[in-house]
Amino acid sequence: MLRRVLLSAAGSDLIKRTVVRAPLSSGVVNRFVAGDHVDDALAATRRLVAHGLLASIDRLGEATTDVAKARATADAYVELLRRLGEAQLAEFAEVSVKLSSLGQALPHDGEQIALDNARKVCAAASELGTTVTLDMEDHTTTDATLNALRQLRADFPTVGAVLQAYLRRTEGDCRDLAGEGSRIRLCKGAYREPASVAFQDQADVDLSYVRCLRILMHGKGYPMVATHDPRLVEIAAAMALQSGRDKGEYEYQMLFGVRPDEQRRLAGRGEKIRVYLPYGTEWYPYLTRRLAERPANLAFFLRAVATRG
Ligand SMILES: Cc1cc2nc3c(=O)[nH]c(=O)nc-3n(C[C@H](O)[C@H](O)[C@H](O)COP(=O)(O)OP(=O)(O)OC[C@H]3O[C@@H](n4cnc5c(N)ncnc54)[C@H](O)[C@@H]3O)c2cc1C
Repeated sequence: MLRRVLLSAAGSDLIKRTVVRAPLSSGVVNRFVAGDHVDDALAATRRLVAHGLLASIDRLGEATTDVAKARATADAYVELLRRLGEAQLAEFAEVSVKLSSLGQALPHDGEQIALDNARKVCAAASELGTTVTLDMEDHTTTDATLNALRQLRADFPTVGAVLQAYLRRTEGDCRDLAGEGSRIRLCKGAYREPASVAFQDQADVDLSYVRCLRILMHGKGYPMVATHDPRLVEIAAAMALQSGRDKGEYEYQMLFGVRPDEQRRLAGRGEKIRVYLPYGTEWYPYLTRRLAERPANLAFFLRAVATRG
């Protein structure tokens, strides 16, 4: 129930304006977001690398309804990549991109505009020897995003995608995308989705995650296990062993600010672990999805309001 309310708030302009203007932001946001600027993302990446972690950097922003803004977002990613190269961090960091921030939702030729913009980002990443993962957004965009993935992979085979275990279709998508070299991040899914397309019960989502993970681990691709769920982390380790994968032939992924001790523990165990690191000023929808995931995060948020307000 609470999750539904918060996920609705993620799409409400009125609530967004109120929260973004409230004087509470910095403490709460800083827990989940590296900062406003590229320099903040680079500094946070350096700190992660010092702890044996890798990064996937996300420039916050989504659902762009303006062609110029979509192009500017692609340019900002190219600049981020240039700075990563200059800082000699490219071997430790890839970038995560939402196609809606590159124009996918534009009414005219949105999918083509997003694809062209994504190509620019992929080319810049490829030049530095790193790569791009396409984030997955709500279910109305899944086909378009997987279609873009296929087209991008023709030129940039290491481009990755995200599959969401809460969607009923995802087992089939895992089968389609478990081929040689295919980088697939498996997560539970963070959007509010109807029962017609998504499991509503958490236990069903978890079971789906396990079925999907089995397909990816036994496939020929590169599974990226994106979860903070301790049971799934252990199941992934057992499945990797069963399917004959060595450490480094799959990776764990967690969000910046979520279970940092566990991130370091896994790295200490010799696991490859990548932290999803968002930066930028457009943090509102990202933050509300994080709050929806976990009541304890919401309590943290409300405490910050009370103490600042
Ligand atoms: C790297 C990465 C990339 C992602 N990309 C996408 C994407 O492209 N599209 C998308 O829809 N979603 C994405 N997500 C979000 C994802 O779908 C989930 O919403 C989010 O990860 C929460 O699910 P969970 O697997 O951690 O399990 P949950 O069901 O939220 O949590 C399971 C258990 O994990 C532990 N846990 C969780 N959070 C905490 C915490 N703060 N402190 C301590 N323990 C905790 C608890 O034991 C909890 O019971 C991504 C997540 C990650 C990690």
